[in-house]
Amino acid sequence: MLERGEVANSWRRERWNSLRLLTPNWQSRLPGHRYDGSDPDGYMTMPEVIDFISGFAEISRAPVRTHTTVTSVRLADAGYHVATTNGDFQCRTVVLASGACNLPSVPSVRDAVPSSIPCFTPFDYRSPDRLPEGGVLVVGASATGVQLSDEIQRSGRPVTLSVGEHVRLPRTYRGKDVLWWMETSGVWNQRYDEIDDVSRARGLPSPQLVGTPERATLDLNTLSASGVEIVGRLAAIRDGEALFSGGLRNQFALADLKMQRLLDTFDEWARTQRHDLDIGAPERFESTRAPQSSKLKLNLRSGEIRSVLWATGFRPDYGWLHVPVVDHKGFLRHDGGVVDAPGLYTLGLPVLRRRKSSFICGAEDDAREVIEHLSGYLAKATAYQTERDRSTRRAWSEGQALT
Ligand SMILES: Cc1cc2nc3c(=O)[nH]c(=O)nc-3n(C[C@H](O)[C@H](O)[C@H](O)COP(=O)(O)OP(=O)(O)OC[C@H]3O[C@@H](n4cnc5c(N)ncnc54)[C@H](O)[C@@H]3O)c2cc1C
Repeated sequence: MLERGEVANSWRRERWNSLRLLTPNWQSRLPGHRYDGSDPDGYMTMPEVIDFISGFAEISRAPVRTHTTVTSVRLADAGYHVATTNGDFQCRTVVLASGACNLPSVPSVRDAVPSSIPCFTPFDYRSPDRLPEGGVLVVGASATGVQLSDEIQRSGRPVTLSVGEHVRLPRTYRGKDVLWWMETSGVWNQRYDEIDDVSRARGLPSPQLVGTPERATLDLNTLSASGVEIVGRLAAIRDGEALFSGGLRNQFALADLKMQRLLDTFDEWARTQRHDLDIGAPERFESTRAPQSSKLKLNLRSGEIRSVLWATGFRPDYGWLHVPVVDHKGFLRHDGGVVDAPGLYTLGLPVLRRRKSSFICGAEDDAREVIEHLSGYLAKATAYQTERDRSTRRAWSEGQALT
């Protein structure tokens, strides 16, 4: 296992200070390793996540070579040539487990932000006090955008939040964590080959959730109540003026409808399959409140906005992968983790084999199945190789006999 930094590198280097997992502690589990503290319903802080993953590296005795950056992977005769900052490797198979969130995904409209306004991404943002004083435009209202809008607004910097497509979820439903429902009802276990439009499922934004000791719901209603100004999707920036789409009501209605459908699925599952559950009555949540009139334009040069935070998602970085398996959008072509090149595999990508694939608790099931395929491939490759070696040797000895 080659790791460019240390074990749990992304949690050590690429997250903001206040971040806690949005998955509850009981859901943090890896093969043979699970949370065993006194707060199963809480949410881990970053130091706790680092301890948890480092603990797993220890008990699993994973042969990790840290501070070893893979600089290129190329096809070679019997597999792949892997070049690193710590020597080269010849491998029959390679598993790409380099993460789904190596880089912030920022739309090209960023180039039109006036140069006087500093831009941040979740990779360089650590805490509100590192932002200039004054207004902040946060673009994107998924998990990262809502969490950071909340903490920046609380720091006294007025936030304008630009909202596009989003997934709304309550933190708890009928007295249980919403991720308990996702897991127990089987929604999170849904397989990639049973999902109608898997590319769409893979591109869905992360749900508006935050892990706090209070198990609070953080949605657009909470944010507007705390003074965050909600505007539509950022469509363009022209001559220093940000232009927002006017479709807020539709975005809200769609997110509310999808949340309702999901809650209905949970209710139906509980009603028909789990009479034994100790849960509260079905709940209904207030619709997302649309502002009386939302701004369609914002002059970025007026002084109202002092910085922009792009909470527009993440993407993987395959700059070092010199095998033609990456599509024009920069995503790996694979079928449930079996990449489009013999002996090449991947893990940890959204909806790789199940809806839970890109979460910590999703690794185990996916890894088992992907590695099963890999072992089969190696066994076949070995048989083929043995046969090829045998015939090469036969041809060679026949050649020897002739000379
Ligand atoms: C902001 C944020 C919040 C999240 N919150 C949660 C949550 O609450 N619960 C949850 O379950 N999941 C959460 N996730 C998802 C989380 O990333 C995954 O659960 C988990 O980290 C995936 O593990 P991984 O090993 O596949 O990827 P990563 O953790 O990204 O690990 C990939 C590793 O590969 C290394 N690497 C990359 N390129 C190279 C190279 N060229 N050479 C050598 N090494 C390389 C990196 O240094 C890194 O250590 C969150 C993700 C983000 C971005």
